[in-house]
Amino acid sequence: MRTIPVAEPFLGSEESANVLAAIQAGAISGYAGPYVGQFEEGFASYCGCSHGIAVSSGTTALHLALAALGITAGDEILVSTLTNMATFFAVLYLAATPIPIHIEPDTLNLDPRLLEARITPRTRAILVVHLFGHPVDMEPVLAIAAKHGLKVIEDCAEAHGAEYKGQRVGSIGTIGCFSFYANKIITTGEGGMCTTNDAALAERMRSLRSLAFGSDNKFMHREVGFSYRMTNLQAAIGCAQLEKLDYLVERKRAIAAAYHRHLAGSPDLLLPVEKSYAHNVYWMYHLVLTGRAADRRPAIMAALGREGIETRETFIPFNLQEHLPGGSGSDKGDCPRANRVAYRGFYLPSGPLLTEDEISHVATTLLRVIAAA
Ligand SMILES: *Cc1c(COP(=O)(O)O)cnc(C)c1O
Repeated sequence: MRTIPVAEPFLGSEESANVLAAIQAGAISGYAGPYVGQFEEGFASYCGCSHGIAVSSGTTALHLALAALGITAGDEILVSTLTNMATFFAVLYLAATPIPIHIEPDTLNLDPRLLEARITPRTRAILVVHLFGHPVDMEPVLAIAAKHGLKVIEDCAEAHGAEYKGQRVGSIGTIGCFSFYANKIITTGEGGMCTTNDAALAERMRSLRSLAFGSDNKFMHREVGFSYRMTNLQAAIGCAQLEKLDYLVERKRAIAAAYHRHLAGSPDLLLPVEKSYAHNVYWMYHLVLTGRAADRRPAIMAALGREGIETRETFIPFNLQEHLPGGSGSDKGDCPRANRVAYRGFYLPSGPLLTEDEISHVATTLLRVIAAA
């Protein structure tokens, strides 16, 4: 049996043909060729949004979104503590202050009930993360945002196609931010997109993405901009991937259902959930060890590795980061659940090419390894 990777891209002849066409036409930058516009329109419309702004990564999408909203030094942004640190970096790039918010025990998303206590006169926005493909409980988040006049940004990097009460993520807050890194649900190698229904914000993001070039004289810049364009080559891949998105979401859900059949009932594992409001796209099949397995993650991951099964640890939450400004110390004790998950959680192979046999092999090996101690 092959080494089973945690993730792998799903690429075919459609991607090759598009990339070749872009190269043969000499249309490779973010300005040349038809693919960037086509990918923006197609992906935004998939999300239920009227505007898509393609960029160079998920991280630059987050930075662009916050910058376009006018977030600046000293502003406070409420952010789920358990996430890829790119979410926090985007806030830190603007010298704004991220306030880590503790998580719900089952979805591992930020707990909306904890938001209001952290609001101060300097709070400007709530940055939610739909972690591992499960949407955040958005209704209470939107209600608190409306009550206090806050913007809502969605980090959808792990949640392409996920739905909250039938509405696709990326269209629920003010701006949605996606990543198309190689291990995300669809990929352009590196890449990202901002989605919004706000025409003025879309225009501002388009301008800031491209050095804020002037309109009459291109080189009379409107403000300090970024060079965050997606290339036509990346978008060529994206257009082909977009056609496969529904299939890939179905695959992720089928993989999760198969793991669930094998693992449900184990007293040593907390499995991913799907709340009644949620359509979970299970970006990665993430588990938390509990019971007699709770403190044995290193040994369990190593044993799986010896059997050719790749796994990956949970993110380390912001409040435990030791080298980031505002990270460790101040709020270390504030997020005990997130702290526990950080050292007890990991994810199993979740790539779209997994076979039924491989899923069964991974699950039975995991249960055997846990029982062996
Ligand atoms: C991957 C990811 C990002 C960053 O995206 P890049 O394309 O790697 O810059 C941001 N937030 C979350 C939650 C992610 O999973």
